[in-house]
Amino acid sequence: MLPRVFGAALLPFSPLAADFYFRRANPDSNQVIFTFDDGWIPQQVETAIEQLVRLQIPADFFPVGRVMEQNLNLWKEAADAGFELHNHTYNHADLSSPLTNVADEILGWETAYAQLGLGAGPNPKVLRLPQNRGEGDLWLYDRAASLDYAGIAGWAVDSRGYIPSWGPTEVQQHISRQLVPGAILLFHFIADDIKALPEIVDTVYQAGLEPVSLARAVGLPTFTPQPPPPSPHLQG
Ligand SMILES: [Zn+2]
Repeated sequence: MLPRVFGAALLPFSPLAADFYFRRANPDSNQVIFTFDDGWIPQQVETAIEQLVRLQIPADFFPVGRVMEQNLNLWKEAADAGFELHNHTYNHADLSSPLTNVADEILGWETAYAQLGLGAGPNPKVLRLPQNRGEGDLWLYDRAASLDYAGIAGWAVDSRGYIPSWGPTEVQQHISRQLVPGAILLFHFIADDIKALPEIVDTVYQAGLEPVSLARAVGLPTFTPQPPPPSPHLQG
C-alpha cells in the first residue's frame, strides 16, 4: 500500500522532519525530561502532582482535551504548580486515520485549554500523538506545522507501567536500563508509574542526569515559558 505522503513534496520543512518529531534533548547534555500523558483518572493526576512536587521534579503534562475540560480545576492546579500542559488531542484520536479530523482534534484541545483561563498556552506549541499513531506521517507533520505547532514530542523511554504483570520495581528497572542523556521519559497518570517515581528519581540522579522541563531542554524547539497566571485563589 502506498504511504499517504501526498503533499510531502510541498513540505517546506521536510529536511527538518527528523527534528520535527523529537525524542530527546541534546544527547550531549545531562538533561532528562519527565512527561505524563492522558489523565483519565483525576485521583491519579492529583497523586502524581503531589508526588512530583514533593520530589521537586519538573514535568510536562499531555492531558487529553476532553479530560481536561471535565475537570478544569484539577488541571488549573497542575498549571499553578508549574507543570506545563501540552496538546494530546481532544479525544485521544488516532491522527493517522483518514476518519479523524486532525484540525478538529488539535484545535479542540486548544479550546479546552482556553477554558483554564491561563492565556495562550505554551509557545512554541508541541503535540503528542495518541498511541504514537502517525509517527513518520509527513503529511501530519505538515498539518501540525500549519496549525503553528513547532514539533511533535515523542519519547526515548516508555515506562511501560501499564503492563498488568509489572509493578513499580519493574518500571524502575526498565527505565534504569533504557536511560540515556537527553531522554524524554513517557509516563501515564497510573498507579505503578507514580509509585515508581521516588526510585526513578534516585536512578536519574545517580546517573548524573538533571530533570528539566521541555521549556528548559537543550536542542528542542525553543520554548518561551509562560509567566505564572494571576491566581484568583490569593485573594481569599
Ligand atoms: Zn495518550
